[in-house]
Parts: sequence; structure tokens; C-alpha cells
Amino acid sequence: MLHYRTLPVTAFQQNSSIVWCDETMDAAVIDPGGDLDALVAEVQRLGLQLKAIWLTHAHIDHAGGTGELAERLSLPIIGPHTGDQYWIDALPQQSAMFGFPPARQFAPTRWLHDGDTVTIGHETLNVRHCPGHTPGHVVFHAPQIGRAFVGDVLFAGSIGRTDFPQGNHQQLIASITQRLWPMGDQTVFIPGHGPESTFGRERRSNPYVGNT
Ligand SMILES: [Zn+2]
Ligand SMILES: [Zn+2]
Repeated sequence: MLHYRTLPVTAFQQNSSIVWCDETMDAAVIDPGGDLDALVAEVQRLGLQLKAIWLTHAHIDHAGGTGELAERLSLPIIGPHTGDQYWIDALPQQSAMFGFPPARQFAPTRWLHDGDTVTIGHETLNVRHCPGHTPGHVVFHAPQIGRAFVGDVLFAGSIGRTDFPQGNHQQLIASITQRLWPMGDQTVFIPGHGPESTFGRERRSNPYVGNT
């Protein structure tokens, strides 16, 4: 069975999630934006073996710790989609702009595309490309536990910002309504910031994408 535990990291309180298979105790960390010592300590406390880094997108609060963690533990970097090369290249400027420790640059071991899957232990998650907040944003869907890790695409009561370079509001709305909603109203999503919610609840009450 697939399990997960979410830890807010960095000054941006970004929800980094550790996901693992309880048969193998192999784990992946989604969006290690920073606070690597806390993430690694939690992995050890849970008795897990960290095997991979999965990225939803390459904004600093999500990807800032990636290069260092990958090097420290010799981990492959899976994702995001090639559309985020611009943001990976911009990591040093993002660090300086937002007062983060200098982010080590990295090259993804494997880029992700819509319809791909990622596997940890005996568990497989589906990858959907959800551009709009960034061009290469992906989300990880775990239908076996009714969960989706959606980064900065959708929040409880809000949606991702599209006022950054390469943001696209219409594309974001299309990603939410055409790629997230089909995962089902009961699906609980883990956003990049703030509390969990369900797609059904957002469909009913989110002022940006309600009644869609
Ligand atoms: Zn972001
Ligand atoms: Zn974010």
C-alpha cells in the first residue's frame, strides 16, 4: 500500500511529501524545496529508504533543495516536464530574489510527460502534465489511495498564480478542469501550499474554478 507524509518546508511553507510503499519501504520525496535535514530525518524516523526525487515544477520553493539532496544521497531526479527548463536555468536568480540559500543546479535524470507513470516500490502513480502555473508543471495521481499531489496548480479555495513569466491563466484553468476533475470528486489533493481538500469540494466552492 502507498503511504505519504507531508512536511511544510522553507519560508514559503511548501508542502513537500514523502511517499512510500509499505511492502518495500522504498520512498520518494516530492518537491524537496529546502529544509533537507528535516526531510532526511523524517525519512529515517519512518524507517524508509529514499530512492528518488519527484518534481512537480521548478520554482525555488519546490525544487531548491533538489541538486543538493540528489548529490548527497545519489538519487535520480524525476520530472518535471521539459517545459520547466527555463525555471531550472533560473534557479540561481530565484534563490537570490527570494532570499533562499544558493540552489545547486541540476539536470533531471528523467523528464516527465503526460500519461507517464512513476513507480516507488510496488506502487505506481500516474503523471499528468498540467501547464499554466509553469509550462512544465506535472501532478502525480495515486488512484489506489484516492490522492493527487498537485503542486501549485490548485489550492483549497484558490488556484496557482499565473503572473510569473510563462504563466498562462487559460491554460491553468484547462489543466484543472480537463486533467484534475476527471480524477473524481472524491479524490483528496495535496496542494503545494496550505491544507488538503477534495476536487469535489473545489468544483462546488472554489471561486476561481467553481461550477466548472
Ligand atoms: Zn510554483
Ligand atoms: Zn509553490
